[in-house]
Amino acid sequence: MTTIPRSNLFYQSRLSRPMLDRAEGIYLYDTSGKRYLDGSSGAMVSNIGHSNANVLAAMKAQMDKATFGYRLHFQNEPAETLARMTAERMPEGLDRVFFVSGGSEAVESTIKLARQYALAIDEGSRWKVISRYPSYHGGTLGAVALTGYDPLTRPFSPMMREMPKVPAPLCYLDRDNLSDHDRGLKYAEMLRDEIIAQGPETVLAFIMEPVGGASTGALVAPDSYYGRIREICDEFGILLIYDEVMTGAGRTGAFVASEHWGVVPDIVALSKGFAAGYAPLGAMVAQGAIVEKVLDAGGFMHGFTYAGNPLACAAGCAVLEEMDRLGLVDNASVMGDRLKAELGALMARYPFIGDVRGKGLLLAFELVSDRETMTPLPKALNAYNRLVDLAYERGLIIYSRRTRGGLEGDHFLVCPPLIITEDQIGEIIVTLIDCLDTMAAEMDL
Ligand code: PLP
Repeated sequence: MTTIPRSNLFYQSRLSRPMLDRAEGIYLYDTSGKRYLDGSSGAMVSNIGHSNANVLAAMKAQMDKATFGYRLHFQNEPAETLARMTAERMPEGLDRVFFVSGGSEAVESTIKLARQYALAIDEGSRWKVISRYPSYHGGTLGAVALTGYDPLTRPFSPMMREMPKVPAPLCYLDRDNLSDHDRGLKYAEMLRDEIIAQGPETVLAFIMEPVGGASTGALVAPDSYYGRIREICDEFGILLIYDEVMTGAGRTGAFVASEHWGVVPDIVALSKGFAAGYAPLGAMVAQGAIVEKVLDAGGFMHGFTYAGNPLACAAGCAVLEEMDRLGLVDNASVMGDRLKAELGALMARYPFIGDVRGKGLLLAFELVSDRETMTPLPKALNAYNRLVDLAYERGLIIYSRRTRGGLEGDHFLVCPPLIITEDQIGEIIVTLIDCLDTMAAEMDL
């Protein structure tokens, strides 16, 4: 018997969600008129909120002029302006910008630039890009090779060359007697050991999310980790790539998260909040010296049709202007501290919240059956789906994952748009309490 599809469209699963009608500020509305507070900015995308009038006006103005001009035929003002605005906001030296249409393309671009740089400086033996486990770097095969999460990589292993992994610093699970500082160094040294094991002359780059995203649930390493990683990369002439697809564009309370630790990476991937959902847009930002070597050696053998699309770049310019006008990087920091404190306070009420972590408005909490041992809740409880559904019913969107370094573990990202106010944070917390009370009663937690 033929099954008649409910829809011709498909994504990962048969998950059925409400039909989106419109969105404004931090709220989305479905076609029945129900309102949802966007507690995860979609997938940590809608940093400046929905339907921002100035961004829409800038996009309309660009639409009236030109929506496409192929980059090999024309330069365009929005792309030039956005490249300049981006470079002005990045740490010193990161001033060459290459546009793409999303996060995976940005990550692919970083490793292809790194490889061509190695060739340009006669270090063609370098090709391995070490990444962390767990991590998420995107859906294209190059990015999958870097991603540290077996269910996403295993099906494709015959089709790609998986890259070496080092453990992500899941320090909150460690039960050793080390200080935070020493734990950070312990995890950094794991990179050094891996480089030596691989043969330093074969290692091209190390890529990391400065604050973890969906893979680890807003994992922040101890401060000591960041500087030591930079030193180790320098010691072996290895490029340091920051995947700031989720953390960039103000999400953590700095334009890019690397600023928090005063580390300047060699290459950075940006997307998500960069055009904040107004257009599919991402960027690779690289040190000028790297780009010059590659261009001198014959050019960057890489590109996408929509790179530097004028409409997407006009949206990007307007988003960055709105971020400045509304002081959103600072607001992410202030409101992030506030929301983190409120989530932290829930730990007193719910013994099954094992950890609250993150930076700025990239925050997460994790559910456990025992806080002391951080034992996860039994998988059969399906807590990560249940809590999301309870929140949906109450008009709140949160983002859940059931992974923790290859172990089981339910974590929930709470990452509202950076325009959030104190009152709206209150609204999130009141709704979460209602959801957690209901879940605790249902599951006898
Ligand atoms: N890198 C990180 C850190 C991400 O969080 C994501 C998406 O979630 C990506 C890369 C891939 O971005 P995209 O889905 O836009 O291709």
